[in-house]
Amino acid sequence: MDFGFTQEQQKLIDRVNHLVRERIAPRAAHYDQTGEAPADDLKDLHQEGWLLANLDKRRGGLGYGLYGDDPLSFFLIDEHLAYGNPSTAHCFQVHNNALMMIDAMAGAAQIQRWIEPTVKRGALIPGAGAEPYGSPPTTAKRVAGGYRVSGTKHYATNASLAEWLWIGRVASDSHAKPIMFMMHRDTPGLKIDTEVWRPTGMRACISPWLYLDDCFVPEENLLGQPGQFLGENWMGKINFAFTANYLGSARAMYDWALNYVRERGDGKDSFRQLRFGELKSMIDASRLILYNAVRMFNRDPEAAMVAAHEAKWLAKETLEKVMWSAAEICGSTALFVKHPLERFYRDMHLHMMHGRHDIAAQIVGASEFGEPYDVNRTH
Ligand SMILES: Cc1cc2nc3c(=O)[nH]c(=O)nc-3n(C[C@H](O)[C@H](O)[C@H](O)COP(=O)(O)OP(=O)(O)OC[C@H]3O[C@@H](n4cnc5c(N)ncnc54)[C@H](O)[C@@H]3O)c2cc1C
Repeated sequence: MDFGFTQEQQKLIDRVNHLVRERIAPRAAHYDQTGEAPADDLKDLHQEGWLLANLDKRRGGLGYGLYGDDPLSFFLIDEHLAYGNPSTAHCFQVHNNALMMIDAMAGAAQIQRWIEPTVKRGALIPGAGAEPYGSPPTTAKRVAGGYRVSGTKHYATNASLAEWLWIGRVASDSHAKPIMFMMHRDTPGLKIDTEVWRPTGMRACISPWLYLDDCFVPEENLLGQPGQFLGENWMGKINFAFTANYLGSARAMYDWALNYVRERGDGKDSFRQLRFGELKSMIDASRLILYNAVRMFNRDPEAAMVAAHEAKWLAKETLEKVMWSAAEICGSTALFVKHPLERFYRDMHLHMMHGRHDIAAQIVGASEFGEPYDVNRTH
């Protein structure tokens, strides 16, 4: 399949693939078993310069991401990292999505202050927006010089590797619309609970619960304008990268299964050929729709957002089919711990529960009827 990559993009893919083959994939089982953050992978990403992927070139970044000169390259790195370890890819994408928001919304001095730990020490930035079901919403009280904030955020990927944390979707008594801010990890009253992260899969992308107990946030740490996160559809925008991760992981499972079947001498069997034909067609179609959605973004952001939800829905359907079919074609032994399929199976079972899949299809359907839809919808 010709995906229409530029020469530069193909070179970048080759670099990511090399790193994945030599270093990231060989470490993945260790990080999964120990439940440690993929520290050596992240050091490699720092050295490659990819922790500044979504920062404007004028500020020393690579200029990728939706507002960059080369939007697709961010998603290509994400997808190809996921081929080796979806947890590492998730740390990479959450960080770079937060960076993209900071780059788009913050003032020059704020950006310098918040990216310095990444530039110098490879610190990651979490994007903590989601809250546990039933917990009181995180709220900010206006006080002299800033805000006092209390509440709980869950699934704060990268929080244990961060110096500055992006905290979003916070109600306040001073603005009608939610605010967002950056909080330093040493802020009194902030507790980062990593112990809670004991999931079935995606174990290495440590995603703590954050407990904010009357934390002081100075005025200068406020990011953007009240309501800007939803007003500019950032909830929808950050979802493109989940799709890239699903597709890199789906390809890893597909390639592994293809090789397994070939080595067992079953490649001439027409039933296996049929199954692999189905999977290949779905993976290629999902990739094409994702790349196309990203390529449309500059020209027609609204249509691109709908296309991105098409891609997300199809990628999840594809992933589900790959997971099931790969195991069914190869047999139950393929799901033993010694094979990477077992880990990807657990990783993707959890990761696809990120949700918004029915919502993704509903957004596409509403746009077909010319009815209103909300690309930020979470429930
Ligand atoms: C690996 C991983 C990393 C994550 N990282 C981050 C992060 O860095 N930052 C962050 O803010 N969040 C992150 N999230 C959290 C995510 O955004 C959600 O908040 C979280 O997955 C919700 O889990 P829950 O159990 O609270 O589900 P709930 O929100 O309680 O939902 C329960 C179920 O209801 C389903 N559902 C809800 N509404 C509908 C509907 N209308 N139609 C059909 N089904 C519906 C959902 O799909 C879900 O399966 C991450 C999630 C995962 C899995």
